[in-house]
Amino acid sequence: MKRTCVSLILTIVFFLGLQKDAKAWSEHPMAVYPVLQSIPAIVNAGPIEVKSLLQFLLEEEHGLEKLLADHEVWAREHIPSYAPRPGSLAFSATGNAGDILNRFYSAIRINPHVKMALYLHLLPGQDAGDREQVDPRELTTLSTLYEMLFTTYVRLQEGEMVRPVDVLATATDEPDYGFDLGLFTDNGTAWGQVYGFGEQSFGNPGLEYGSQAPFHMGFYHESWLVFAAAPFLKRTYVEYRIHLYKTLSQYAFDAGQHYWGWRFMGWAMHYLNDMSMPYHTTVMPAKRPLGMIWINLKAMLGFPRSRDNAVQLLSNRHTVYEQFQWQILRQAHLSGDAEHPFLVALANPLETVAYDNEFPRKVAARESNRAARRNDRLLRRYVPRYLVSDPKNEIGGSHELDDLLDVILAEKGPEAIEGLTHMIAERFRALSMHTRSFVNHMLAHKAE
Ligand SMILES: [Zn+2]
Repeated sequence: MKRTCVSLILTIVFFLGLQKDAKAWSEHPMAVYPVLQSIPAIVNAGPIEVKSLLQFLLEEEHGLEKLLADHEVWAREHIPSYAPRPGSLAFSATGNAGDILNRFYSAIRINPHVKMALYLHLLPGQDAGDREQVDPRELTTLSTLYEMLFTTYVRLQEGEMVRPVDVLATATDEPDYGFDLGLFTDNGTAWGQVYGFGEQSFGNPGLEYGSQAPFHMGFYHESWLVFAAAPFLKRTYVEYRIHLYKTLSQYAFDAGQHYWGWRFMGWAMHYLNDMSMPYHTTVMPAKRPLGMIWINLKAMLGFPRSRDNAVQLLSNRHTVYEQFQWQILRQAHLSGDAEHPFLVALANPLETVAYDNEFPRKVAARESNRAARRNDRLLRRYVPRYLVSDPKNEIGGSHELDDLLDVILAEKGPEAIEGLTHMIAERFRALSMHTRSFVNHMLAHKAE
């Protein structure tokens, strides 16, 4: 039995290991802006002064020492499967400006090479005016820039005044710019050795983007059978990230540090919004638990083909889902059509559920987990077979992916584009509700 479990564990590691992309939604600000723009308290909030992280930390060092110590106590008590932060990483107010950034990165356990530039993320078609544009390489630690190459970023200067809505929306993309890369002992990084997260729970430790998976995925609603066979699936850190950044945001607002209040808030929102993406809350949408175990048993007996096929299809569908979302949402913004189904969905949230610390798990992840199977089926119906149902095909980086909409249109017709658009629009109604609930929660704190 023990051996069976170990084999099963290894297999499921393999399942997730082949997921090359752990980004969930591509370009979060495109989805978040339309939601924020319909919240008067956000749009009408007065301008705030831009401040570098270094300056913020120097001004708040003592307060942060206590805040982060208190947060660690809270996290150990309240976050299931939390990996305690080693005592040696605790943030101490030493007054040393030379290493304060690194001390902070260690205390919150993120990639120490993060860039932390002062900038804004513009929407597709938005004019940069006479602002200086920023090269994406100044923003991310990733060597592959993906859709960042299509985005316009503009530089901010310390001390200038900006709108909170712009800071908040911009920050919702940042956690995908390398924050959570290399944090495990088997990622081959110096910081991964000391952060206390142990070996990577799932995902491919050898892939650049793969190592962030356990921070951006949350499997809370798999069957007991799957969790029994693969208990490591519970070792995800989405709730840790959300609560940590929410706490930092509230601290910053309380201290009158509004720029960092909004920016930390956007970081928390990123992880919350990742939970509305079905492939981030569901191990294998196409398979029932017994199906997963069956193909695994066959693999153990020397017939791995069904399992390997399932892994490849999972990866391809995840990739197509994201790419379709990104291309259509980009079109929606470029067209400026307020009646576009994505923009209508983002303006019409599901019925509100009040935010609390269990919301990411019990509301957001549950909804997308429930939608996962149906979404997977719709992909099979509406996307050409060789893209989502041919396990011999690896579609990552293929030109069919670049031309995805044309490829779907040519083979499946406009009803396929419509069907897929409708499918993701439904997810965006959920994302819209989650965003609003979180914003309301944060605004209530701010008003206290
Ligand atoms: Zn993410």
